[in-house]
Amino acid sequence: MDPLKALADAERKPYWLDSPARPEPRQRLFGHTTADLVVVGGGFSGLWTALMAKERDPSLDVVLLEGRRIGWAATGRNGGFCMATLTHGLANGLERWPEEIDRLERMGVENLDEIERTLERYGVDCSFERTGELHVATEEWQLDGLNEHLDLISDLGLDYLPLDQEQVRAEVNSPTYLGGLWERSGCAMLDPARLAWGLREACLRLGVRVHERTPVRSMSDDGTTMTLRTPHGSVGARHVALGTGVFPPLLRRLRHFVVPVYDYVLMTEPLTEAQLDAVGWRNRQGVGDSGNQFHYYRLTDDNRILWGGYDAVYYNGGLVKPEYDQRDETFVKLAQHFYDTFPQLDGVRFTHRWGGVIDTCSRFSAFYGQAHGGRLVYAAGYTGMGVGATRFGANVMLDLLSGKPTDRTELRMVKEKPIPFPPEPVRSGVIQFTRWSIAQADQHQGRRNLWLRALDRMGLGFDS
Ligand SMILES: Cc1cc2nc3c(=O)[nH]c(=O)nc-3n(C[C@H](O)[C@H](O)[C@H](O)COP(=O)(O)OP(=O)(O)OC[C@H]3O[C@@H](n4cnc5c(N)ncnc54)[C@H](O)[C@@H]3O)c2cc1C
Repeated sequence: MDPLKALADAERKPYWLDSPARPEPRQRLFGHTTADLVVVGGGFSGLWTALMAKERDPSLDVVLLEGRRIGWAATGRNGGFCMATLTHGLANGLERWPEEIDRLERMGVENLDEIERTLERYGVDCSFERTGELHVATEEWQLDGLNEHLDLISDLGLDYLPLDQEQVRAEVNSPTYLGGLWERSGCAMLDPARLAWGLREACLRLGVRVHERTPVRSMSDDGTTMTLRTPHGSVGARHVALGTGVFPPLLRRLRHFVVPVYDYVLMTEPLTEAQLDAVGWRNRQGVGDSGNQFHYYRLTDDNRILWGGYDAVYYNGGLVKPEYDQRDETFVKLAQHFYDTFPQLDGVRFTHRWGGVIDTCSRFSAFYGQAHGGRLVYAAGYTGMGVGATRFGANVMLDLLSGKPTDRTELRMVKEKPIPFPPEPVRSGVIQFTRWSIAQADQHQGRRNLWLRALDRMGLGFDS
């Protein structure tokens, strides 16, 4: 089908947020108040922090301030792959923290188990399905990558199932697949917006004071109390936790470590039974292909296909702007790739198209820290894999605020910071050249040019 025709009626908004289940925003903050802990940001990072702060100590007075609406940003726009990995995949973690990887993998699985238990505890219905993720190779050179991955994981005793061409097509039927690897328990599919709204509800039930449409404009510290100012009020608190993602940070030092990268997504109409039969997909895994520029895709609870990824776009200057949420060039490319992958779904149309911004850092996985004499903590840099990992990051922030070392705060991964990005305009030049090199590698059997190999040696890179 002509991609332009297939996209003609697609709404220009995130499918997940376009739902009657979206709750009315909580009231803005008016006037001055005090609290024990102020959490800034109403994405997964802030929501988990507020919720677990109350779970750890129900007597704590917690205020959460969100500049717009709960879950409106990356949290309500993502693919809904809730992964166990805390390190943006095993290979990245093994490369950077080999001596800790066993622990990091174990903590990641525990974190995902805890997410599942939390949903049960609070009755959060976000269509959580622990189906795992199917990594597929669509080019010969990608099969080598999957085999290398298999060698890595066999030592760690993880639950992966290698699939040859026939087996992988029996799972999900695409003529483009050459082989695959099914990571069976380390990933769940969910509806991210309903998760965010469910966490909001759980926070409210435990007594967190949530204010939406309340951006924090500035912050000051008199040595014992942090004061956060908003357009119509202020909060004084002993402790502050920042879960502000990629947005202009209240703590200036963070802007060296995180860059905004835009990622784009399409959603189809629900498949009919006959269309579903034509693709199989009875085990409902999330799927990711294995190029450097990769697609991720999955079924929703009403059997639509979410189809995203491939172009990861950095706009020169590194700003976050509403107009970047739409990119027709990418939508057309994504639609074409969809029909190339599933020619039997020719005729299926798209109902939604949207983009969202990712907080990319040079080590691809979140970093953590404190400032203001330990009164302020932060976690950022999830680089496109924060649906599950933000809960771990929230625990790290609360551990740091407690002042007592824990298994988490003792990790080298937690203690170290990523290498900062250079300032603009060099930053734009470096990132665009790296993006170009990555695209070239995909077109030349994965061969990495001198620049990418130099970055690899320094443990640096660009990803989404
Ligand atoms: C298109 C797309 C697809 C993705 N797919 C996946 C996926 O499948 N799996 C996965 O694991 N991850 C995925 N991600 C990444 C994942 O969505 C994020 O890692 C995660 O949502 C980050 O949550 P957060 O709370 O840190 O940030 P955000 O969701 O960005 O929330 C930050 C919040 O802070 C608020 N804020 C900022 N500054 C202030 C201020 N001064 N005052 C008050 N409020 C403020 C913002 O308004 C915002 O609501 C994807 C991301 C995108 C964009």
